[in-house]
Order: sequence, then C-alpha cells, then structure tokens
Amino acid sequence: MYLSKYRVLLYYKFVNIDNSEDYTKEHLKLCKSIGLKGRILIADEGINGTVSGTVEQTEAYMNALKADPRFEDMVYKIDEVDEHAFKKMHVRHKNSIITLLPEDDVNPNEKVGKYLKPKEFYEMLQRDDVIVVDGRNDYEYDIGHFRGAIRPEVNNFKEFPEWIDENLSEYKDKKILTYCTGGIRCEKLTGVFLEHGFDDVYHLEGGIVTYGKDPEVKGRLWDGRCYVFDERISVKINNTEEDTVISKCAHCGEESYRYINCTNDDCHKQHICCEKCEAEQEGFCSDSCRQYIIEHPERDARLRLKEKAKMYERYNQKHEKSKEVVNKLQKNNII
Ligand SMILES: [Zn+2]
Ligand SMILES: [Zn+2]
Repeated sequence: MYLSKYRVLLYYKFVNIDNSEDYTKEHLKLCKSIGLKGRILIADEGINGTVSGTVEQTEAYMNALKADPRFEDMVYKIDEVDEHAFKKMHVRHKNSIITLLPEDDVNPNEKVGKYLKPKEFYEMLQRDDVIVVDGRNDYEYDIGHFRGAIRPEVNNFKEFPEWIDENLSEYKDKKILTYCTGGIRCEKLTGVFLEHGFDDVYHLEGGIVTYGKDPEVKGRLWDGRCYVFDERISVKINNTEEDTVISKCAHCGEESYRYINCTNDDCHKQHICCEKCEAEQEGFCSDSCRQYIIEHPERDARLRLKEKAKMYERYNQKHEKSKEVVNKLQKNNII
C-alpha cells in the first residue's frame, strides 16, 4: 500500500467567531506550533483554510479544532501528497471568508441553495431542465469543468452578482446547479441566485474535490483537471476511463494543463504552457512580453530568481526553497 507522508486539508465553516481578530493571532500560534503551512482566512462569519503538513501534524490540527465546540463538526477534504503544498503559514483576518461587495453579501446560515451529494449532483447534471453554472473564475474553468457547464466571465468572485443579472436572467424558471472547488463559494453564490429571483437553486456539497473521491461517481462527467490554490496548481478529478485533458498550450496547441506565470513581471499572466514551450519561449506569454523585457530588463522574473539564488549562496542557505530556486534556474538554462 502507498503510504504518503504529507496531507493537504481543505475546509471551511460559517460560524460566528467573537473577537475574530484576537482569534486570528491565536490560530496562527497554534498552526506554527504544529508546523503546518498554508493559508487560512478568519472573519466574524467563520473560517476558510487550506493547509499542508505531515500526517501527524494534520491529525494534531484537526484534533485541536475538534476540541473547540465551534469547529467540532467541521468537514475536512483530505488529499494525500508527497510534500508540503505551501511555502509559508499565513493566517489572515478579513471582513469575510469569501468576499462579495457589501451590498451583495448574503449569509449562508440564513439563505442558501439545496445541497446535493455527488451521486445526486451526477444525476441532476444529466437532466435537460437544468442550467449548470461554474462558480469559479474563468481561468479555473479553462483547465477543467463539468461537461456542459456555463463558463462565467469573472476574474473575481465579487463580479458574480452583476454577471448573473446580465447573462442568466432568462433562466429564472430553470433549475440552477452550481459547483466550486471545495463548496465554500457556492454557499454564497446560491444565496445570490435566490436573492436575484431564481427559486430552484442547488449546489454540490463538498465541491469538486469531494465529487472526485466519491466511490460511486468517481468524478464522471468532469472534463480536464481541477485548479487548486497551492503549489500543485491542479489535481485529477475524473478517475474513470473518460478522463481527458481539455486545455492547450498557448504556444503550440498541444494538450497541456500546466499553468505558468509570464516571465515579464509587469505582465505575470498565468497561461497554459507545455514544458517544451516554456524552455523555448523562456516563459514569456507572448512576443510583446519578450520585447518588453528587452526594453525593461529590470522587470525580468529570472533576474529576481537569480538575485535570490545569489543571496542564498552568500548566506550559505541550503533549505528547500533555495534548492527549488536553483532547480528552476537550471531547468530553464539560466545558470
Ligand atoms: Zn507548447
Ligand atoms: Zn506576458
């Protein structure tokens, strides 16, 4: 049996947190004392996090939270991985754990769509009186989505209410089916649909990652990969013979789901690029970005990496991060 050393936890809960600012500091101490890495948001309305650590560390964290009545019943999506999926540990205090504009904000404890288990969602996907709406950003949709889902033209969750009004108003008599990575965005998105005059609104409980692990549906009807906000960039969802790659390298058009950032720091555009083209194009998203760096050499992302590598060398630092920087430079023939 394959025994992995590390895990990634993904979780959230909408629950009232008093003195949430103080609790944020307390929570950071807890995470650091355990040795976790990741990103956690804390607000009056709850907690939203994704962290990585060894099996023991993640167990210790879940046990610590189970002992707190507010988080006793929190659900964790657990992925087995080979190493940490984050570089640092951040716990940040925010006004909300998933942000809409103040005038659009909804409270999932008061108004929310109907939850569907993976099997129920799978069955609903195949009806012809439903409209399936991806609850994520356009770049997440582009590397993978449920078959037949509408691609929302939003770069940011806050843009959803306006996009819904402008594009979906004619579907108010249909069933609306939404989904997102771990389920948190749909907790508010379904509330927005209800507020905007849609009556029959459903969402996928536990999100895409739970759907992929369901022993019965096994990710069926999911095409491509699922974007995740950690070092892995994307994960596999469809565990059947139907699994496909749906995205293409921006340069050569080969099937690929590798997202990289443009070498031009003033562009930094996340684009799909195969390994071969990354080397050939030096990580630039376009010729104009390559041109731009000839004129503005100080904005070359490789310079930043080289500086870092030099600094690590100067102070004789041999930690994981320094090895990673040097590896990247070597792989791209920079040093
Ligand atoms: Zn390519
Ligand atoms: Zn660019």
